[in-house]
This record gives sequence, structure tokens and C-alpha cells, in this order.
Amino acid sequence: MLREDLIFVGTCDIAGLVRGKGFPAKELTARRKTGIGWTHSNLMQTCFGPILDSPFGTGGDLMIMPDPSCEVNVDFGDGSAPEHFFLGDIRNTDGTPWECCVREFLRRAVASLEETSGLHLIAAFEQEFVYTGVEDLPGHAYSLSAFRRQGIFGESLVAAIREAGAKPDSFLAEYGPRQYEVTVAPQTALRAADQGVIAREMARAASYRLGHRAIFSPMPVADGVGNGVHIHFSLHEKSGRPCTYDADDPLGLSDNAAHFAAGILHHLPAIAAITAPSPVSYLRLTPGRWAPTTADIVKQDRGAALRVCPVFGTAKPKKTAAQFNLEFRVCDAAASPYMALGAVIFAGADGIARKLSLPETGTAPSLPHSLGEALDVMEKSQQIAGWFGPTFFEAYLRHKRSELASVAGLDPAALCARYAEVY
Ligand code: GLU
Ligand code: MG
Repeated sequence: MLREDLIFVGTCDIAGLVRGKGFPAKELTARRKTGIGWTHSNLMQTCFGPILDSPFGTGGDLMIMPDPSCEVNVDFGDGSAPEHFFLGDIRNTDGTPWECCVREFLRRAVASLEETSGLHLIAAFEQEFVYTGVEDLPGHAYSLSAFRRQGIFGESLVAAIREAGAKPDSFLAEYGPRQYEVTVAPQTALRAADQGVIAREMARAASYRLGHRAIFSPMPVADGVGNGVHIHFSLHEKSGRPCTYDADDPLGLSDNAAHFAAGILHHLPAIAAITAPSPVSYLRLTPGRWAPTTADIVKQDRGAALRVCPVFGTAKPKKTAAQFNLEFRVCDAAASPYMALGAVIFAGADGIARKLSLPETGTAPSLPHSLGEALDVMEKSQQIAGWFGPTFFEAYLRHKRSELASVAGLDPAALCARYAEVY
């Protein structure tokens, strides 16, 4: 069969999907300078495809510029076209960043943390999904049988992640039927989000080649087991010295880490609209699912919004400080990793800037019970409006509200089925 290499350039947009365009690989040198054409209303493509509302109309041009540090070229060796793509930035035609670019949102968040504290953040994405290529047998949560029965999917996924330039940390059979989890090693914020996107896409790519799907929907089946995206993070000084840990604090948190966590909890009812941005996200954030229901921080508790993670195999302060991290659990794969991590960092940086204190135990407010509720809380926040900028803020709210209106009236089972088709 006659073939010619193609390359795709895209970004993981506010619908949490990687979208962009392809071109012949021979044109890469030119495309590095001109990118691919894009338009403002592409931002308004809902997760279902159609643009249901847009402040931008049909006018205007943008470009997605491939980031040379974010090239994936993975040949699965089965004769299929390689996964050759770049993640990139959405720019205005004069080359300046577009205010609604998701990677730019994260860069602004990183800058705000740096400006307020001189610190930077290291993060890792731990992602759960359902692999459809395995028989659903009861009673096999975390079992060797469930681990084995996925066949070569796990090996293929781990190899693809490594080939794509990320370091796989773990792959396991999870608690739910046909549910698996993959985690990559920690990186600086932008790279961690890039690799969160890449890990998700490699799971989809490996599944596709095996004739199956990796379903990341936050709640694939109503009353089933949720798929979380857990963001592990730690704070570091410019020198690289870890500074999240303080042995004298009951939670083990340094002052800056406590302020950072307090900022996240303070903004959580609002930023849930960014980190858990689908109606089915709120079916996951319900009791009894090892998913959070309140804006709390708890030591080693998988039901908390912020889990203070354990440290394994050492009691030495220096080694403890190097491993010590927090885990943000109010996140799922309907969120773009750039937006979710950006919101966490903006909120944490604000906590440091205002020296916010952690709430007293037992006083944590409930998380929003629906996306509509979260969007209403977010709309009232001047500060969050400032993180976005006016154009992006309005576009985000209109995007999400138009998506919500399009599924209004669906019962939980139909809603979950609809989102499982997408994610
Ligand atoms: N599936 C749970 C969630 O939705 C998490 C289970 C775990 O702790 O790994 O977040
Ligand atoms: Mg898990």
C-alpha cells in the first residue's frame, strides 16, 4: 500500500480532548515556523463535537505551534501508522500567545507561584480508566488474574509511554470491573501535564491497535466505580531542594506547603468547575467511592480532596522530604491536565500570597454537587476571573454551560453512557 508519513499537531483543549490537524511529515521544517491553522471558535467545541455557543463567531485565525520539546513518535510495530504528533501552543497569527491557550494558562499559574514564593512545583498524573479488551469477571479487584487477562495491553502501553519520552511508574489492575491505572514519574509542571496527556493518548492508542478502548470517563457506569485522575505534587526551591515537608507539623507540612494546600481548599468549590468539569464528574464525587466529597486535607486518606501521601521505606528526614508529596483527588479526565494543574497552582500560590491557614478539622465544606453549582461558584470569583482573563473566562463558562444544557434531562445511566462514548 502506498503511504506517506503524517504528523499531527494539537493541544488538549478545555473539553479534555486532544484536537488539532495533520500535515505531511516532509513539511515539518516549514510547519515548525507556521504551525497549523486554528480559529477562536475551536475553543468552543464541546466534548460531543458541536459548537453549541460561541462568543467568537466564525471569524478570526490562530495557529497551533508544535512544541519541539513535546514530540511523540511511537511506532507500535504492527504496521499501523505511528503515533507521530506534537503537543503545542495556540498563538495569534503574529506569534504572540493566545489568551485562551490552555498551556499558557498553566504557564501563567507557574509564573504566579514563582512570583509569590520563588518556588516551583513537581507533579505526576495517576490516571484510572476502563480497558474494554478484558472479560469482566466478578471479584477480581487488584487481582493477578485481572492483571494477566489484559494480555499485552499493559506491556504495549508502558512501552509506548517510554518511547514517547515519559517514564512509566506503575501499571495496575484497579478496584472496578475492567479498571486499570497508569502513572508516570514526576516532572516540572508543564512537562507533567504534557506527559499526563501523552499517557492518556498512549492508553487510547494501544487499546485502539488491539481493537478495544480505554475509557477515561469519570463515571463510565452510573453506580459503578469512578475513574479518578489524581495529581501528586510537591514544592521545591529554586535550587531543587524539596520544601513540602516539616517533621514537626502534625500533617508533616512546611509553612509554605500548608498555605499552598489552604489555597487549594479555599478555592476548591470553584475550581472543581475546572478540575471536575463534566456532569458525570459529580456522580463520582459521592460517598463510598474513595473519591472526595468535601474540601478537606487528611493524612493518608483516600477519601480526602487532598491526601497527604505516605513515605515508604525510610524514617530519615532528608529522604522523607525527597519523597513527601500531596495528592489532589478532585480531578478527572474530562479536564485538560493543563487546566487542572493550572487551577491547582493558581489556587495554591494564592494561599501562599495570602498566608491562608488550613481549616480546623471537621469544618470542611462540601464540594459542589453538580457542574452547574461549581460553575456558579466559579463565576462569582473575581480572582479566578483574573487567572483566566475576561475573554477566556466568558468562553469557558459559556462552553461548559452549553454542554450542560445539551444533556439536561438525561438520567444518570444515559448521562454516563453518553460521556463514556466520548472519554
Ligand atoms: N477510583 C477512585 C477515584 O475515583 C480512586 C481509587 C484509588 O484510590 O485508587 O478517585
Ligand atoms: Mg487508583
